Amino acid sequence: MKYVGAHVSASGGVENAPFNARQIGAKAFALFTKNQRQWLSNPLTEENIRLFRENMEKYGYELWQVLPHDSYLINLGNPTSDALAKSRKSFLDEMNRCELLGIPWLNFHPGAHLNQVSEEECLKTIAESVNMALDKTRGVTAVIENTAGQGSNVGYRFEHLRYIIDLVEDKSRIGVCLDTCHTFTSGYDIKSEEGYAKTVDEFDRIVGFGYLRGLHLNDSRKALGSRVDRHDSLGKGLLGEEVFRRIMNDPRFDNMPLILETPDESLWAEEIRWLYGLVGASPGYKES
Ligand SMILES: [Zn+2]
Ligand SMILES: [Zn+2]
Repeated sequence: MKYVGAHVSASGGVENAPFNARQIGAKAFALFTKNQRQWLSNPLTEENIRLFRENMEKYGYELWQVLPHDSYLINLGNPTSDALAKSRKSFLDEMNRCELLGIPWLNFHPGAHLNQVSEEECLKTIAESVNMALDKTRGVTAVIENTAGQGSNVGYRFEHLRYIIDLVEDKSRIGVCLDTCHTFTSGYDIKSEEGYAKTVDEFDRIVGFGYLRGLHLNDSRKALGSRVDRHDSLGKGLLGEEVFRRIMNDPRFDNMPLILETPDESLWAEEIRWLYGLVGASPGYKES
């Protein structure tokens, strides 16, 4: 079964996110557990936590259906030690928030080398950052998102994700989230049927489906291999519709959060309905 949703607002408190997700007919959702543009936010109160849990139940969500996203400020591969320490502190705070809410994962962008160190050096620093956060938390999996490779961001090759995983000590608490826009603009042609099959096989060979914890479903404003990260609403960008039909009919993406991060939130309810409408829509596919 597919669990499609969107990155919904948690404004006014994390406890508001389940209601916002229900409003658009989502079966999964993402949220920021704190203001994503600030390094520090007020700690979650017992009231926030209690109401979040209550609303999760009220609106029919289980905790695994929530895939929170970390702050865009965090760079776990920052080559400067002060800045790295700040990022690590903030990431640990976000992992702690997930732990308090009972959410089993936190999705993060791996980081950027800022043209000061090699990609490999940066990947090593990221893995060390993850190890430090996992050491100090319980029950929360760190979920690396593949990137478009914009600027000096690492994580735009499946090999990068594998490299980080290899260096993480607790393999039971490291996972991966693939973003369709990032995958495409980083150079994997998931638009064509042949390219999709090849990409998915390559992902399985290099990273392994066992590590996949979710997808971000976004169309792309930018071309294959452009290494630019510009999401578009489904069906409106360069990816077209077929890749989403393939995903919705591919049992390897069952039972995990499939999250829209498309730019026009007024379309989310419609996009979710459209995606579910693709299930079984093509002969030859079989939903498990
Ligand atoms: Zn994403
Ligand atoms: Zn993106």
